[in-house]
Amino acid sequence: MTFYRLLPRKLDIQVAVICGILMTIMLPIYVMNEVKHEIKYVIDTKQQETRVVAKNIAQTSIEYLLVRDYTSLESLLQHAASYPGILDLQITDKAGRVVSDVVVDGGVISSRFEVLNLTPPKNMFININDDNEIVVWEPVSSGSLIGWVRLNYSLESTYKHVYQRMFEFLVNAGIMVFMIIILLLLFLRKPMQLLGMAAEFASNVSDKTGGTMPVAYQSVELEKITTALNQASASLYEKERTINKVVKDLETQKHALDEHSIVSITDENGYIFYANDKFLDVTGYQGNEVIGKKHELVKSGVHSDAFFKDIWKSVKQGEIWKGDICNLNKSGQLIWLNTTIIPFMNQTGHPYQYVEISTDVTEKKHAETELEQKNKILKELTEHLEDIVQQRTVELEKANEELLYLNKVKSEFVSVVSHELRTPLTSIKSFTEILEDDVDDMCSEDRQRYLKIINDETDRLGRLINDVLDLQKIDSGMMQWKDEVSDLKEVIESSFNLFKPAFDSKGVQLNLNIKEGGFNVCVDNDRIKQVLSNLLSNALKFTHEGDVSLGLNEIEIKTDDGLLVKACEVEVDDNGIGIPEEERGRIFKRFHQVDSSETRKHGGSGLGLNICKEIIEHYNGQIWVESRVPKGSCFKFILPEMNSVDLTS
Ligand code: ADP
Repeated sequence: MTFYRLLPRKLDIQVAVICGILMTIMLPIYVMNEVKHEIKYVIDTKQQETRVVAKNIAQTSIEYLLVRDYTSLESLLQHAASYPGILDLQITDKAGRVVSDVVVDGGVISSRFEVLNLTPPKNMFININDDNEIVVWEPVSSGSLIGWVRLNYSLESTYKHVYQRMFEFLVNAGIMVFMIIILLLLFLRKPMQLLGMAAEFASNVSDKTGGTMPVAYQSVELEKITTALNQASASLYEKERTINKVVKDLETQKHALDEHSIVSITDENGYIFYANDKFLDVTGYQGNEVIGKKHELVKSGVHSDAFFKDIWKSVKQGEIWKGDICNLNKSGQLIWLNTTIIPFMNQTGHPYQYVEISTDVTEKKHAETELEQKNKILKELTEHLEDIVQQRTVELEKANEELLYLNKVKSEFVSVVSHELRTPLTSIKSFTEILEDDVDDMCSEDRQRYLKIINDETDRLGRLINDVLDLQKIDSGMMQWKDEVSDLKEVIESSFNLFKPAFDSKGVQLNLNIKEGGFNVCVDNDRIKQVLSNLLSNALKFTHEGDVSLGLNEIEIKTDDGLLVKACEVEVDDNGIGIPEEERGRIFKRFHQVDSSETRKHGGSGLGLNICKEIIEHYNGQIWVESRVPKGSCFKFILPEMNSVDLTS
């Protein structure tokens, strides 16, 4: 790489420089090799030539040696020495004694007359010595050896010639290299220009999508490059169009999603980095309050930690999670979101973000809850329908019984009232007529008796009318209650005294039994006397012998509020006929009379006990009967004492 940094930046110059460097390196190597071969070839040639020259001299000199014609020998040598490059030539006898010697010095051939003794070889000899001279010994034979030709040839001029030629070659080669580089540059100029254009086109291809450049046919590579660039441009254009369309589609889809859904995106650690307007609307937070936070910001506490752990476990494994999550908005209201969480996985299979798409189902959730509750109620109703029907049936049966009873009461009322009105009226009318017709003939006893009957019947009629009027007043709230603080003991004693004679005259003992205690009550004394009168009248009516007891006692009772208070208990205990158990509840109802001969004998309206009940209950008291058929009845009533305090504490 360092080498390329040293090179010029332009590719054509680089090519030229590299070519120049390569040629500059290769050419001398080539020349050296050539010189080496040339020199070897020239030396071989020169050796052969000098051998031929020596051989020719040897053959020509045979006769001259045999006849010892040294002059001819010398002229022969001088002639031969004119051969370029020869330094000296000698002819010796077979012992090596020089007989003729020619020397060439600076192109001048001259004979040498020094007596030299050379040592000839045994056979023909040719060699190059250290002075770059070819030395040839060629035997001269005429059947037998008669002498030797010795030749010394200088290779210096040969070498010079070779080097001269190589130098010229180098100069020519240098010129050629230069020319080649110039031609190369010229040749590369156009392709380089096209490559430059292609590079510029390639660099701008992303901007000029869909553009084309002219195809360069100068070379296959350029044609391929320009064609490829045009294809790449067209492909890029197509891809860009597709991408633009996809981006537009995605934007449309995102817009639609944002319009319809609540969208938030978190990173792999659950930190929100995108929340759409709907998310902000529903949660009530600003964008900067949400970005960088976790969804715990809107955690409602409705779901358990395990619920969220399960969600994370699923989505971290790349699974899509769907379900309802209850969140808390900024105002503290619960919001239910039907949510889908989609994990986006990277190439290593790990989630890098989670997209949460939700719709607000709070109202639906409320409706569902309401529906569930209604369904539950409906189910319960259905389950208990049979019970309710049964209960209603029982109630209806009871109501029916009540109606039947009321109908009976009404009939009784009609019969009782008509009977109770007619009977005394008939009596009064009959005895009045008797008195009217026979008053003069009648003894005073009879007259007295009839008048008493009329009087009794008038009382009876009056009582009935009073009872009916009293009940009507009570029912209509017109009854006047003259309440005052009274000692119940006195009221009891008063009633006892009032009824004592009647009991005595019937032969029934009436006892008064008042225990110790404070009997202060706040009541209308006349009404309480009315109660006592009713009870004592009945006791008198239904008791024929024995005794009747009128008692007063102080007891403790528990009120509806659970308080323990003091109360007065009054009882009228007789030895009469008694009252059957099934009748004990009914006798306090209006016009109800026990259907017995005894009752019919005494008559009555069936209103007395009902009036007693109304009066006692008006003062928050209670009245009931205990009976032992046929041994008698015991009517009891209690009245709360005045200022009675809670005895519990
Ligand atoms: P009546 O005017 O018929 O006496 P009451 O309401 O006073 O009306 O009594 C209702 C019925 O209760 C009576 O007809 C009678 O059958 C029964 N009754 C009331 N007191 C006694 C009693 N002391 N002993 C037996 N039966 C009684």
